[in-house]
Amino acid sequence: MNEILNAAAEAPVDAGDAHALAALSLDALLEAASARRDRRWGRRLTFSPKVFLPLTNLCRNFCDYCSFRRSPKDDGAHTMSTSELDEWLGRARDQGCVEALFCLGDRPEAVFPSYARQLDAWGFGTTVDYLERAGRIALDAGLLPHTNAGVLTRDEMEQLRPVNASLGLMLESTSERLCDKGMPHHRAPDKRPAVRLQMTREAGELAIPFTSGILVGIGETAAERVDALLAIRDLHRRYGHIQEVIVQRLRVHPRTPMAAAPEPADGDLARTIAIARLILDDEVTVQAPPNLSPDGDSIELQLRAGINDFGGISPVTPDFINPRHRWPVVAALGERCAAAGFSLAPRLPIHAGWVDPAWVAPEMMPHLAAAEARLSTAARAA
Ligand code: SF4
Repeated sequence: MNEILNAAAEAPVDAGDAHALAALSLDALLEAASARRDRRWGRRLTFSPKVFLPLTNLCRNFCDYCSFRRSPKDDGAHTMSTSELDEWLGRARDQGCVEALFCLGDRPEAVFPSYARQLDAWGFGTTVDYLERAGRIALDAGLLPHTNAGVLTRDEMEQLRPVNASLGLMLESTSERLCDKGMPHHRAPDKRPAVRLQMTREAGELAIPFTSGILVGIGETAAERVDALLAIRDLHRRYGHIQEVIVQRLRVHPRTPMAAAPEPADGDLARTIAIARLILDDEVTVQAPPNLSPDGDSIELQLRAGINDFGGISPVTPDFINPRHRWPVVAALGERCAAAGFSLAPRLPIHAGWVDPAWVAPEMMPHLAAAEARLSTAARAA
């Protein structure tokens, strides 16, 4: 290993050296990233047993790679009712899930009057009002909400804090270039880097445990990936709130403007994961979704690249963002991990370092304890 990697295997790489990582050999990056992961996390991998609840797929943005979003008159446009939530949460609890992931489109009431009327008829002024109610329903069902509702204001995050274990927003990229005409974010005002950095910063000011991430393969350069990771690290060093960073590979979808775009190769993704591990601070979980890289030895490559977590895996619902990519069966994933020398264990949608009244609304603490007890009971019974 060269001098930069020798140091990076022990501690986060200096900002000045971070861009040099992209030019190093993949094998050397993997070796250093494995060493960094092993120092803090050992050979223990985690995942969050979850139910994915797309509260609404209406969205005011148009991202060129997205097959999830709908306008109200599109086929498949849907907003979940509270009775649907009850049904899915009940199934999820029966299957041992502890996380209710609310993942939905950005602020649809701002552009779709019919949706605003629907909310009003249900007694809600905004999507966030509905999310607050949905969070309470999930807690009553014994599941812990984690919400990614796109860009939220500071007041909205404060409103959701008492009913969420954690909140999230993928930074995706800090490249303004991707918002230019003809680029993937040019019709997505909520994907402006400054807007997403502001929300991430405000979550830190509010001491909300937060999930961020980068999206790999949407036209960004290797240097821009490093810029985004450094931006996340800077905010974490200021506020300490970034509990996990997802390194998510683009999977393309038919009937989207990027349907024919090349997807990142396994080696390119592994290189990016390793660089994330070497840039980010030790306590920050590095995560890659296993359903987006299920083939061949790609998951084993990601283990070598330094992940310590697979994120949410659902036994009851598909990945509505990437519906063609099924979650792995946990037992089969555990066998692959064991063959590579790792254990695999379920966890809460808030990482252990943030389970503390300094980070979580006091009323959430009993819910966290109850969910942890359920995981422990299930582990003893297994
Ligand atoms: S990726 Fe998110 S913000 Fe972009 S169009 Fe899809 S749902 Fe909307």
